[in-house]
Amino acid sequence: MFVVSLFKPSSALPRDGEVYVERAFYVMGSKLELKLYCASTPQCEIAINGAYEEAKKVDYLFSNYRDDSVLARVHKNGRWRFIKVPSQFIELTKRSIGYSELTGGAFDITVGKLVHLWRRSQENGQIPSESAVKEAVKCTGYRKVRLLPKEDKVLLASPCVFLDFGAIGKGYAIDRMVMALRESGVSRGIIDLGGNIFAMSPPPGEDGWLIAIRDPSGTGASIAYVKIVNMSIATSGDYERFFDVGGRRLSHILDPRTGYPVAGASSISVVSSSATEADALSTAFSVLSEGEAAEIAERLHVGVLIMKKEGEGVSIFRSDVFRSYEVSGSN
Ligand code: AMP
Ligand code: MG
Repeated sequence: MFVVSLFKPSSALPRDGEVYVERAFYVMGSKLELKLYCASTPQCEIAINGAYEEAKKVDYLFSNYRDDSVLARVHKNGRWRFIKVPSQFIELTKRSIGYSELTGGAFDITVGKLVHLWRRSQENGQIPSESAVKEAVKCTGYRKVRLLPKEDKVLLASPCVFLDFGAIGKGYAIDRMVMALRESGVSRGIIDLGGNIFAMSPPPGEDGWLIAIRDPSGTGASIAYVKIVNMSIATSGDYERFFDVGGRRLSHILDPRTGYPVAGASSISVVSSSATEADALSTAFSVLSEGEAAEIAERLHVGVLIMKKEGEGVSIFRSDVFRSYEVSGSN
């Protein structure tokens, strides 16, 4: 993982009338870690169960890996026909379309067909033909998803469009979990779902949660540290996850407009008060140029750190908002 919490419970002991509890689960294909301070152990247990249930609910809504998910039903029954789905499905689809409009289509949940194509090419070790990519691009485009939000209905206006929430679903699950924890009366803690982190109120005696952003080329060195409270940080990059096609490392992030994996190794971290937003934008910024990413980050007032591999070295860009969260690491 390239974003890690450096928190050590031994250095932030719970205050009187407080307990510290940590738990780990496996959900949405990722490790989920919760570290919480609660009024009592039973309160923590109830809160943790509630949060875990939320993550499982998000998985049931958006999973591409199970045939009983709401997403599977949309793919099966929702072509050219409006079908009713849970309101959370509409909520995240609507937000995803919003990020497509914001990024000129760099972020697009309709990349499903392209993801299948490049995954298959990984299995058979061959780059897909130009015509196969073109065909898959024809099945891509956020305007192919139509919503009737008031009625909780969705329609897919294409015989071959497939949705993929892989770039935003974990962030959304984090936001849902934070909401569930707060409803159970827990406000102090940190959640990590597959490298998507939300830092709630800080540990006792601390003024924030210290997070390290590691050198993506795997040296283990930390490139930057941020200290955050009630903020999320997400990282996208092709250093850790990629398609291996006949020995060539290709990014698992695709440009929905061309159908090809984004070029050039990069790792992009986004800090936002919304985990959904941090997740979506860190993926989108991997597709956009540094200038485009910086412009959007400034407009939305989110922090961004862009690391790009250049020759033997790494070039680093940090936005002003990102700098405002940065600390030297020792404090
Ligand atoms: P992340 O790790 O959050 O950057 O998400 C990457 C995953 O999102 C990929 O494995 C694909 O399933 C999906 N994806 C790839 N490219 C895009 C894109 N341009 N927009 C939205 N989702 C994408
Ligand atoms: Mg993402």
